[in-house]
Amino acid sequence: MERNYRETIQKTIDARAGEYTGLSDTIWGYAEPRFEEYESSKLQQDYLSSKGFSIRAGLAGEETAFIAEYGKGKPVIAFLGEFDALSSLWQKADSTERCREGEKPNGHGCGHHLLGTASVAAVDALKTYMEENHIEGTLRYYGCPAEENAGGKAYLVRDGYFNDCDIAITWHPYTLNKVMKGGFHLANFRAFFTFHGISSHAAGAPELGRSALDAVEIMDIGVNYMREHMIDAARVHGAITNPGGIAPNVIPAEAQILYAIRAPKVTQVKKLYDRMCDIAKGAALITGTTVEIKQVAAYSNLVNNDTLADLIQENLEHFVPIGYTEEELAYAKGFQGVITDLDKEGLKDMAAVLGGREKKQEILEMPLFDFIVDKNSSYGGGGSTDVGDVSWVVPTGQVYTNCYAAGTAMHSWQAVAQGKSSIAHKGMLTAAKVMACAGAELFQNPELVEKAKADFKAELDGEEYPNPLPKDLKPSVW
Ligand SMILES: [Zn+2]
Repeated sequence: MERNYRETIQKTIDARAGEYTGLSDTIWGYAEPRFEEYESSKLQQDYLSSKGFSIRAGLAGEETAFIAEYGKGKPVIAFLGEFDALSSLWQKADSTERCREGEKPNGHGCGHHLLGTASVAAVDALKTYMEENHIEGTLRYYGCPAEENAGGKAYLVRDGYFNDCDIAITWHPYTLNKVMKGGFHLANFRAFFTFHGISSHAAGAPELGRSALDAVEIMDIGVNYMREHMIDAARVHGAITNPGGIAPNVIPAEAQILYAIRAPKVTQVKKLYDRMCDIAKGAALITGTTVEIKQVAAYSNLVNNDTLADLIQENLEHFVPIGYTEEELAYAKGFQGVITDLDKEGLKDMAAVLGGREKKQEILEMPLFDFIVDKNSSYGGGGSTDVGDVSWVVPTGQVYTNCYAAGTAMHSWQAVAQGKSSIAHKGMLTAAKVMACAGAELFQNPELVEKAKADFKAELDGEEYPNPLPKDLKPSVW
């Protein structure tokens, strides 16, 4: 099925490519971490405001959250963007050596500078298309803070900012091109368990002390035992964020452990979390300490939508292969030379899954994956995303496009280094085109919107959004 909007939107985005890559490169340089994306958010707000969008900023207690809106009436179609960087990942652009030159604390290791910008580009180009063709409807860009380690979107969902949306569309930069289907991303809670004991001289008066560190250790042992009795797909990982000091002769009065708890469904995570709260109480009882439990983030699993997945697939097929120059292939090969041995192993596994026995070697030799991976392949799953929370209240479609050398790990300095390359730019502009075209179709095809809504209902099958964030929890850096 050929659509004439594809040509128009492609032309608009190509004509403004310099503006968009300017935005993403600038945000790459700001490298602001969760909830501190002041400059990045302002840059996007100013850009969209100059393009005639109205802006509402500072939403759900998140200073850097905003909605840019154009048009009126139904349908309301939301494009989601992010702009937060990751801690300790600053890296010189294009350098295949670890090099912190121009030192900043943080770096865009998950490509969120591209993520937000492609969605900005999609709404910008779509607005032009809607104006030129007198198309009705409400077009929105959601500037969503703190995807990493805080789940910023969950607060926007909890506080009702998606209540009147009909459809949400977004993407994520990656090392391949693929529709991102629900079912492969895990729901995730983060919670701190802080134990309070009594300090004393460990040799002189041990009977007067109650060790908070003992409680942390016992809790972790309890969690290890729990692992035997949970579903295979669940994951629990912890970090001792306060061991209670460095002196072995002082009984630690306070100690803390942070857990991430993941499972395919948010309802399953909640059950594991409740069991871990009991384990914590048990550890406190054993050690004569007390425990304070604070859940700080919740990410829900991604709810699939076949109608939107098919629509995105059709458009992805139109814009992929992306096409790379010899220079770009050589650039990617350079980065393939510096991925870790473990990532090389991962790449082999990936090639085997994608290519089977016959094509495995051929795929392994590709510096860039310029093909479309089957949307039903589980590749690209396993992590968690706060898009999941949006997908429980609005039919949501998502896509990955290739922005990095094959085998590059996300959240690595190698990903930061490639973030301003023409490969990253091409992936971003491709994502913008795919998303804008999906939007153009939806604005003109009310039956398709209804079909996506029917899918959404069927997929939830009566389940309601469990709203995993505590009601009084405020967005914060923890
Ligand atoms: Zn990310």
